[in-house]
Amino acid sequence: MLNLFASPQIRNRGTVAGNLANASPVADSLPWLYVSEAEIGACDSENWRWIPIEKFYKGYKLLDLRQSELIGAIRIQKSHQNLSQRLFKVSKRRDLDISTFTAAIQWQIVEGRFQQIRLAYGGVGPNVIRMNKTEKFLRSKLCTKDLIEKAGKIALAEITPISDVRSSNQYRNRLAETILKKFYYEEISVAA
Ligand SMILES: Cc1cc2nc3c(=O)[nH]c(=O)nc-3n(C[C@H](O)[C@H](O)[C@H](O)COP(=O)(O)OP(=O)(O)OC[C@H]3O[C@@H](n4cnc5c(N)ncnc54)[C@H](O)[C@@H]3O)c2cc1C
Repeated sequence: MLNLFASPQIRNRGTVAGNLANASPVADSLPWLYVSEAEIGACDSENWRWIPIEKFYKGYKLLDLRQSELIGAIRIQKSHQNLSQRLFKVSKRRDLDISTFTAAIQWQIVEGRFQQIRLAYGGVGPNVIRMNKTEKFLRSKLCTKDLIEKAGKIALAEITPISDVRSSNQYRNRLAETILKKFYYEEISVAA
């Protein structure tokens, strides 16, 4: 994702805090921070408070950040380091383009079953969303092509994409399903 993010100039100057505070539903760092269950450290001159990323966004471009506060840190539990993960960015151009759709998948398979699975999609609603119902459906189940196809239908019911200059809502709906198939063919079936 870092290689696809904006351009060398932006990558050298832009910060993760700026990406978070900019609060775009297609900000490229966000899906990964969602599946990593990141906590945002908001601070002012006297106090710190930690906010789980899912509570940090209260609507389109609305943050749980007071006038006096800055984002001072972002923390992620070390346990996430042991999980496999894959990040996706769909955009019209490879370089210097705003995403149409983004996704992050973090997983662990034990004896063919999803022991852990976390999914987050961007570009399918006013904020990045954690795909809780799809995750619940997948958890503990044998990872098969049929399961992934069924999960795609559940994912569709969790999202509310709009049409804009970058794509139609139908295209984003298709992506919500097909990205899971891409994940299956490129990460799961090849490893089996
Ligand atoms: C040409 C171009 C291409 C881009 N491509 C991408 C892309 O591919 N993917 C992507 O996700 N984004 C992209 N962006 C958006 C932007 O560059 C990124 O979101 C970047 O991470 C912003 O970081 P920054 O430090 O430059 O923030 P700034 O642009 O300086 O600030 C953004 C907002 O965050 C606030 N802010 C910054 N730091 C903090 C802080 N510590 N605490 C609280 N508020 C803060 C600022 O006040 C401002 O409101 C692009 C932008 C441009 C101009």
